[in-house]
Amino acid sequence: MSNAVTVERVYNFSAGPAVLPEPVLEQVRDEMLCLPGVGSSVLEISHRSPAFEEILDNTTQGIRNLFQVNDDYEILFLQGGSRLQFAMVPMNLIPAGESADYLVTGSWSQKAAQEAVGLTDSKIVWDGKPDRYRSVPQTGDYETNTAARYLYYCSNETIQGVQFQDHPEGKNLVCDASSDFLSRPMDISKHAVVYACAQKNAGPAGVNVVILRRDLLDAIPDGLPGYLDYRSHVDAGSRYNTPPTFAIYVTGLVLNWVEQQFGSLESIQKHNEQKCALLYDVIDRYSDFYIGHAVERDRSKMNVTFKFDNEKFDALFKTMAAERQLTNLGGHRSVGGIRASIYNAMPVAGVQTLADFMEEFAQQNG
Ligand code: PMP
Repeated sequence: MSNAVTVERVYNFSAGPAVLPEPVLEQVRDEMLCLPGVGSSVLEISHRSPAFEEILDNTTQGIRNLFQVNDDYEILFLQGGSRLQFAMVPMNLIPAGESADYLVTGSWSQKAAQEAVGLTDSKIVWDGKPDRYRSVPQTGDYETNTAARYLYYCSNETIQGVQFQDHPEGKNLVCDASSDFLSRPMDISKHAVVYACAQKNAGPAGVNVVILRRDLLDAIPDGLPGYLDYRSHVDAGSRYNTPPTFAIYVTGLVLNWVEQQFGSLESIQKHNEQKCALLYDVIDRYSDFYIGHAVERDRSKMNVTFKFDNEKFDALFKTMAAERQLTNLGGHRSVGGIRASIYNAMPVAGVQTLADFMEEFAQQNG
């Protein structure tokens, strides 16, 4: 039977799950029936087989190489998304009666803080809510508690489109890097824990990368349920239960693509800076028409968010954009407006097409 379907890929600005590199999708397609030398699909092999062992090792090594993660850190692949890390981090890192400090810069860190405050005596030491989460704090804007076990931040708020340009000052940093992981270098050695769900920059939905400083394992409170205790996953090499093998495999291919295509995270950072500048340039030139959400200093290089003075333009913008194959540009349901997510795999041509359209739209309607 012939399946002659015309496949035309659009420019997909989805916030996640999001666009993946085309060479990765092609390799997944080519290897779907049979992994080279294995005789079965990656979907069909045991998580304890030598073939999967190699995939897991390569994926771990890819992260170690790109971020220069040293042996003081474990790299885990877990399920439950970043949402589970909102709970696992305080459960594992904060002994009974103790606390951590949270910087709340948008919807995701707010949810993480809420979880920690519910489980422990943790404190919110900076909250951007009164300013509608348009910025992130600078050193001196917040005071940490000396007894706090860690300082938590979200490097890039996917919904509001604000990003830390560098890590905040504080000891034992814990970072939710879900939406800018792999998009720029990151000094892992300044962190106790860095975690990220894969479905934005690193791979498909289903796997969470957790980079964890080893010495923290010694202080994990006893009595946690097995899956929720980091030690279970460290001891079992991320195979305490059956891990999301396919998602780990695709993440490994994305890491290879980053290495081959860009060579380093410094290089991909430059590429991402050029891409977002195309959009922010239009927003700034038509600032009476496009109302950018983030303050200029803290603009996200991954999620470009803006609104119109008149909400009637939201629908028109999305409809006209879709006619040009520019899709999934709606802001998150909690904030509305427009959000263009331009992760690593979004080509420059896609961002340029969007920038050209925005210019035209402003000229016609502004
Ligand atoms: N943190 C951030 C910054 C996110 O963008 C998301 C997902 N959009 C999450 C946490 C939650 O991730 P998950 O759905 O994998 O639990």
